[in-house]
Order: sequence, then structure tokens, then C-alpha cells
Amino acid sequence: MRPALLDPLFAPATSLEGVGPKVVAMLENVVPADLGAREARVGDLLFVLPHSVIDRRSRPGIAHAAEGQIVTLEVTVARHQPAPRGNRSVPYRVYAFDETGEIALTFFHANAAWLEKIMPVGADIVVSGRMEWFNGRPSMVHPDHITSAEETDSLPLVEPVYPLTAGLSPKTLRRAIGQALGRLPVLPEWQEGEILRRQTFPAFDLALKRIHNPMDPIDASPKNAAWRRLAYDEFLAGQVALALVRARTRRLSGRALQGDGRLEAKIRAALPYSLTASQEQALSEIHADLARPERMLRLLQGDVGSGKTVVALLAMARAAEAGGQAALMAPTEILARQHLATIAPLAEQAGLKTAILTGREKGRERTEILAGLADGPIHFVVGTHALFQEHVTFHDLVLAIVDEQHRFGVHQRLAMTAKGDAPDMLVMTATPIPRTLVLTAFGDMDVSRLTEKPAGRRPITTVTLPFERLPELVGRIRTAIEEGQKIYWICPLVEESEEIKLMSAEDRAAALRKEFGDAVGLIHGRMAGRDKDAAMLAFKNGETRILVGTTVIEVGIDVPDATIIVIEHAERFGLAQLHQLRGRVGRGERASTCVLLYKAPPGEVARRRLEVMRETEDGFRIAEEDLKLRGEGELLGTRQSGAPGFLVARIEEHADMLETARDDARLLLSRDPELTSPRGEAIRILLYLFGRDDAVRLLRAG
Ligand code: ADP
Ligand code: MG
Repeated sequence: MRPALLDPLFAPATSLEGVGPKVVAMLENVVPADLGAREARVGDLLFVLPHSVIDRRSRPGIAHAAEGQIVTLEVTVARHQPAPRGNRSVPYRVYAFDETGEIALTFFHANAAWLEKIMPVGADIVVSGRMEWFNGRPSMVHPDHITSAEETDSLPLVEPVYPLTAGLSPKTLRRAIGQALGRLPVLPEWQEGEILRRQTFPAFDLALKRIHNPMDPIDASPKNAAWRRLAYDEFLAGQVALALVRARTRRLSGRALQGDGRLEAKIRAALPYSLTASQEQALSEIHADLARPERMLRLLQGDVGSGKTVVALLAMARAAEAGGQAALMAPTEILARQHLATIAPLAEQAGLKTAILTGREKGRERTEILAGLADGPIHFVVGTHALFQEHVTFHDLVLAIVDEQHRFGVHQRLAMTAKGDAPDMLVMTATPIPRTLVLTAFGDMDVSRLTEKPAGRRPITTVTLPFERLPELVGRIRTAIEEGQKIYWICPLVEESEEIKLMSAEDRAAALRKEFGDAVGLIHGRMAGRDKDAAMLAFKNGETRILVGTTVIEVGIDVPDATIIVIEHAERFGLAQLHQLRGRVGRGERASTCVLLYKAPPGEVARRRLEVMRETEDGFRIAEEDLKLRGEGELLGTRQSGAPGFLVARIEEHADMLETARDDARLLLSRDPELTSPRGEAIRILLYLFGRDDAVRLLRAG
């Protein structure tokens, strides 16, 4: 069903001249597409874009070419001076001249026969390369290009420079790309005339040709209209694909959840606080979604400690009012239990039954929970991955909430969706994803944002401390404990190896026990679930005062009277993670401190991260800085979530066009939902070009 027009681009790259199995293996390392198991295709090469250019347009003549300058010279070959026999360290020199002077073209370990062939004495040739002046004599060592005067046209005066892997020569790559360009069929235009004019976009094929064969360095710049055109194409393809997926999930649904507010009122009455304005705002957006017959797909974004859980609970109350069940999924068992501890007592006040389902519930207990979900007496269930399992069935699941979304894969979300009659979905994330990234990763998923923290929160003081001052810190902690404060102490993941990670937390706990005895608790990922609970509970109750742990503490743990967090080897953590960890404190009335303990001297990026942490508590600013320091993929954890990367678009350069692409996609699909108009047909081609053809399948299936 792929348009036959595209066949030449979907042919294997090995069908190109000069591309054998060895070369294709190297090409596969430079093509931007995620090939997975498939082989590289001709079309993949089109999107290998240059990262810079070499400007060879300067033709000053030999005498006027400056040291170090890249120049192109038209010269006549005067004589060859081979290296003396047996002395390979002396280069082979070819002397050539123009009207301004003479130059030595210099070759080490030369192939004399080849040099004589391409530069016969008396021939007019063109050479291009870097000028070197040696004792007042001009030379060019290993010119980048040598052509006969008649073939000057083949010499790229503005030469694109591509990413290379070892073994792949620029010439081989350029030749392969050149052939791929040659196979580009005439394609219908999928962009509207209006945007082409406004943005001065060239046609798709012209854009590619201009970037690969620049006449001017600007032609190959991401800022230029040619590259912007491709980026916009890619954005549009992405947005259309997301919109199709979304339209399909909406079509699957069609259930309006109406509630009378009765249960919600009871829960609100049981809360020891009132909601912040942004919690109210988010909740009313969610309620409005639930009331609509279409399916909700909403992202609730709120910085750590902004109070997402209670918003989730009140949304669940509405589901119960409408007579359905709600599920809340957490990435870890600890977090699931914590959610249960928050939710169950409040739900009980409203006469609602809550259960938990993780890997730990076994035997009779599990059987009862599963029965309660299947038959209906359980209104709310909180759980982990266990909820995704096939044998878990619901009586009537109407609302699925996923906490800390980026830890779950897309397929898991879909698995959950399949559990009910297309339940409404609320995805909660504490990673404050910048607006542009929300658009790219989630398309037109609706977004609610908690922009304020609950009242009464005090700012967290962040200090950085080199390891040498550990004794001083221990002294401060002693005082804090005497004052009744609680402390988290985080140890890093030293290696990928669980063993070492464990050692470090345990060693630290042992060292601290020498100072503080039984006041020190320990929690780490390898402990049995019940032991983790016990460690958390002891800390919550104040039986322990210092909780030493690995990053299991990172996500969502809520102990409001913990006021100090020490992060050991802070230089090893990413910004987002540091921010998450810091968010474990500053949740109560008391002023809190975050101590970033680092091993001096930190590297450049680490130093910058620590600085950002000291400067701001604003999760959005931190996310932006993180984006700059790490690149977008890691921030979203794309490898886990399956959020697509880009082939040609660069978020830093092209983000300004994202919203236009989204609006464009929406408008297109509202007019032509099945992509059958001429433009719709062209858009299908676009989807194939950018690897979004999965979405085309939805059209058929829908
Ligand atoms: P997060 O958004 O990080 O998941 P939580 O839902 O864990 O945040 O909430 C953090 C803390 O703030 C909890 O102790 C919760 O009880 C409290 N909280 C939530 N909303 C409010 C509010 N409006 N006023 C005061 N405290 C609140
Ligand atoms: Mg939370």
C-alpha cells in the first residue's frame, strides 16, 4: 500500500554503486533513522545532512593565498620530484605554477603512478586544499581535491561535511548521497502554498539538493529556508501521525462520565487543606474532559511537590460517581503503597473501597483483589506493572491514571487502555517538560499544569560542599537530629552494576551508624518489598532520623517533616534527577536544606549543573537547562517511552514552527480525516518519507 512512486527510495542502500556490504554497515552508523533490524535504504541517505561546510570559493592565486587558508588554485603542472629511493620520510612533490608563482603539492607515502596519471607534466589542473607556507615557500599537503581543468565543475566549491564513522571516506559517502538524490522521484507538494510563500520554502527535492550541493555556506545551515522546510515537513509528519493515533483512540471511546459531586465533596471535606488555584484549574479541566463523550488524553504536569496526587484522587472520585472504577499506576512499589496510604483513608471517608495490586500480593489476598476488580466492589485500585498483566480484568474501568509517565513504555500504556472500554487517560509527570517537547512527544495531548506550590512552602536552601568537608557536615547533622529533624542521604549509582551501588549505600549507612547508631535507616532497590516498607515507615514515624538510600527515594516519596537531603557524589547525577531528589524535602512548614556533596574538581558540565541547582528551584528553568546540557532525548527518557527522535529537525533551531505544524495537522485532518484528498494523498507520502507510516495503517484499520 506504499505509493509505488516511493519504491526507488525504499530500495536497499546496497543497490547504490560503490555500496557493498562493508560500506553499508558503515553507512548504517551515520544515517539518522533508527533502523532497528531493517537494512539501510536509499532514502535513509537523503537525511544524512552535513554538520558544516568547507568553503573553497577563494581563488586568490598562489602568491596571494594566506597561510592556513582553504583555497582553490588553477595551476599548470611543471615537474614531479619523487621521493628518493628508500627514503619514505621525504615526500613526493609535484611542482605547479600559475601567473603569480609556484607551489609544491606534497604527498607522503605517495603512489607515484597514480600521481603521474592525474597530474601529467604540462596539464592544467585545479587543486583545492589548505595553504601552507614553509620557509617562505608555498605548499599544499595532500590537496583535498585534484581535477583536470575540464572537470572543474565536479569540484564542490562549497563542500558539505558529513558526520563520519571510521573507515567511511567522505568521498564514498558523498557519492552514495549523490546517487540517492538522483533517485528522488518527482513528488507531489504536500505543503500548502500559503506556508511555502510565507516561509519562502523551496520544494522538498530542491531543499535536499540545496543542502547537499550548497552554492553558499548558508545553503547548508539549519537556519536556512531549505533546512527549515525539511524540519517543517518532519514536524508536520509527526503531528499528523500523532493526530491520527489520537483520532483513532477517540473513535474507540464515547463515554461521558457524569457526576453529582457528592463523593468529591466528601473527600474535599476530609482534606486538611484547600486546593491551590492551579489544582482547582487542573481539576476542572479534567472534569470537563470526563464529561465529554470523547476520550480524555490529558497530561498533568506539575513540579515535584505541587500536589498531583490529590488532583488524581478527586478525578477518581468523579469516575466513582459515574459508577465506574479507576486505576492509578505508579512506577515503583514503594510509590504505589504511598499513594494507597494517601488515598485509602480519604476514599474511605466517601465510602469507597480501595485496593492495591503489586507483585507482592499473593495467594488468597491476590485472588480476592482480582475478584473485587472483576466483579466491581473495588472502586479504586493502586498498583505497579502488575496491573498491566493479562489476567487482571475490571468490572468497568473508566479512568486510568499513570503517575510518573516517563517510566512506563508506550505499549504498557496501551495495555492499560485495553483493560476497559477505552478508559479516559490521565498521565501525570513531575518532569517539567518544556512546552516544545510536550508538543513533539505527545502531540496535541491536552496539558494541565500545576504552576504553584501549596501555600506555606518554604524555599529550599541548596549548598554545594566538597567531600573534604564531610566531617563538618556530620557535625551539622548531629545538631539537626538533636533538633528533631529528619534527613535523607542519597548515594549514587556508582556503576551500572547493582552490586557496587548497593555497597555504597550500605557502606555509608554503616559509617553513619558509627556516629548516630540506630537513628540510621537504609533502603535500596534490592531489598524485599516488606523491608522497604518497614524502612520507609520507620523513617516516617521518626524511629529512624537518617534514611540512607539509593535513588529509589527519587520518585514521589512524601515525608513532609524531612528537612535535609544530602546527595553524595552529586556531580554524577543529571539535573532532572537532582531536582527530583531535592523535591523530597521542602514539603513541610520548616525550612529545608539540600546539600550537594561533590568530589572536587567537578567536570565542566557537572559544575554547571550544580550551579543551576544553587541558582533556582524552578522546575521549568531546570528542565530548559537540562535540555541544553543533555539534549532532549535523555530528558524525556525516550528510549523507554518510545517518543520519536527527529531525523532532520533540531529543537533548538526549529521549535518556532512546531505549533504551526500542529495547527496545520489539525486543520488538515478536520477537512480530510482519511487523507483521501490530493493533499491528503501527498501527506501519506510525507508520512512514509519520515518513517511515520504506522499512522497510515491506522487509516485503514480505523
Ligand atoms: P507531587 O506533585 O510531587 O506528586 P504530592 O501529591 O505528593 O506532590 O503532594 C506533596 C505534598 O503536598 C503532600 O504531602 C500533599 O498532602 C501536600 N499537598 C497537596 N496539595 C496541597 C495543598 N493544596 N495545600 C497543602 N498541601 C498540599
Ligand atoms: Mg507524586
